Amino acid sequence: MRDQVAWLYKAAAARGLIVGSAGNISARTEPGMLITPSGGDPESLAATDLVAVTMQGVAQDQAVPSSEWAMHASVYAACPEAAFILHSHADACTALACLGSALPAFHYLVVQFGGDQVRCAPYVTFGTQALADHAARAIAGRSACLLANHGMIVCGRTPQHALSQAVLLETLCRQYLLALSAGTPRLLTEQQMLDAQERFKTYGPRQPDPKRSDRQPDQAVP
Ligand SMILES: [Zn+2]
Repeated sequence: MRDQVAWLYKAAAARGLIVGSAGNISARTEPGMLITPSGGDPESLAATDLVAVTMQGVAQDQAVPSSEWAMHASVYAACPEAAFILHSHADACTALACLGSALPAFHYLVVQFGGDQVRCAPYVTFGTQALADHAARAIAGRSACLLANHGMIVCGRTPQHALSQAVLLETLCRQYLLALSAGTPRLLTEQQMLDAQERFKTYGPRQPDPKRSDRQPDQAVP
């Protein structure tokens, strides 16, 4: 688990999603979560630097957990399927969040976050319970939200899923800002977004049948 969190932290930094200490990563554990330390740096972080903390913020290790541990705890409570959380100040996500704007249904891929828009939580001071509460409300029923004048949060089932969600959100925010700078983006209708959501249910490589023992778990079915 420590290696997975450290991998996600460094992979997010390598893709420019986390710069310096402007971001934090956690994984859900049985008693709470494993989270990056306060003021952590992806380049120098070792897996042993991660902090085990309860959902009430009681650290089980010597190090001080990220100041946003309460936000992670509230998001885990709001998103039962979330196993990993990535919070960052990624450029395009943060630029859009600084307009106080949600990411609307300007592109069908927005449905990948579980709805017809990615909501933007109102601005409150970082590291507070108020921010944790706003973030939980904004992300409920989704796998991502923006934080006004601050950044973004994505959830994932695995570290790889959390990373791909973060890359997708940053890409879509950049494309939306590009479209906004060129004119007024045409938004998709509720029905068009529902149709896209339905299409995704049968899109992509099929998962192998777990009851068949003659296939490797990661072998795609043609
Ligand atoms: Zn932040």
